[in-house]
Amino acid sequence: MSRDQYTFTDPRTLYPTPDQQPDPETQGEPGLQEAMRDFVDIGAETYRGSGRLDGRKALITGADSGIGAAVAVAFAREGADVAIAYLPEEEEDARLVVDLIEKSGRVAAAIPGDLKDEGYCADLVASAVEKLGGLDILVNNAGKQVYAEKLEDLTDENFDDTLKTNVYGMFWVTRAAVPHLPPGSTIINTTSVQAYSPSPILVDYATTKASINAFTKATAQQLAPRGIRVNAVAPGPIWTPLQVSKGQPKDALEEFGAHTPLGRAGQPAELAPAYVFLASAESSYVIGATLSVTGGMPTP
Ligand code: NAD
Ligand code: MG
Repeated sequence: MSRDQYTFTDPRTLYPTPDQQPDPETQGEPGLQEAMRDFVDIGAETYRGSGRLDGRKALITGADSGIGAAVAVAFAREGADVAIAYLPEEEEDARLVVDLIEKSGRVAAAIPGDLKDEGYCADLVASAVEKLGGLDILVNNAGKQVYAEKLEDLTDENFDDTLKTNVYGMFWVTRAAVPHLPPGSTIINTTSVQAYSPSPILVDYATTKASINAFTKATAQQLAPRGIRVNAVAPGPIWTPLQVSKGQPKDALEEFGAHTPLGRAGQPAELAPAYVFLASAESSYVIGATLSVTGGMPTP
């Protein structure tokens, strides 16, 4: 490892700016990371663990690719066994993550399914608990983002799918998980800068991300007296399959990240340490917080 996440570097030049890279290929949903290898860094070459999650047991949704995959790799290298959830059509991406978890010497459980299905959400938790022998970290990270230029183009089906995936899925998985979580457990939800600065073409998506912040703050207060901490992470623009599979129009992808103070999009590898901090006992008094990782885009 020539560089790791602790190496002193200039954040402006750590990854390419939009003018330094080719235009990305667009894909259908949910998009495969395998097809955008040159764009996405999940930290496989750089993340160095130091026992911050030794013996922990984590379930991460949407962990086949992007931010969830980077979090899975980081958690495993920090000493956690990890169950990953994803859509069945993402098996190829999921295999890579399973391999990386196992290479860290940890248990990997792969549990594919659709979070829009409440039955799967309950089975997912039961299966993770069985395969890991318990559960003390839950990361609700799966998400759907499909842009619509005009409100009239936003169909009931799209609106419903986005809310079902991003809000109901989180609710169903969390409700099923809570009875299994011992005091000391941590829940981390992935929200977005879209919760505060919604794009005009992401009406449904931004609505879910504001909901996730409110859900986080409400459940944080309810669960803290039970010793369970709930927090959220709000990413800015990050290179992942979500963005190239109808997450943004093609011309916006060409400029993706350029408008941030840092002048570039972020990478999943740059998100993982935020999740490690919130998962670990070192954040014992951090509850109901949203940690922004936005490349400088302002958040409240
Ligand atoms: P990603 O495409 O790599 O991950 C999203 C994952 O969600 C998919 O891999 C898929 O497994 C899962 N998913 C989607 N629909 C599902 C369904 N119906 N059932 C089960 N799983 C489903 O993209 P990402 O950007 O890493 O997304 C992770 C999270 O980060 C999402 O919540 C997203 O909203 C959030 N986020 C991303 C960005 C960004 O710029 N990439 C910015 C802010 C927030
Ligand atoms: Mg994926």
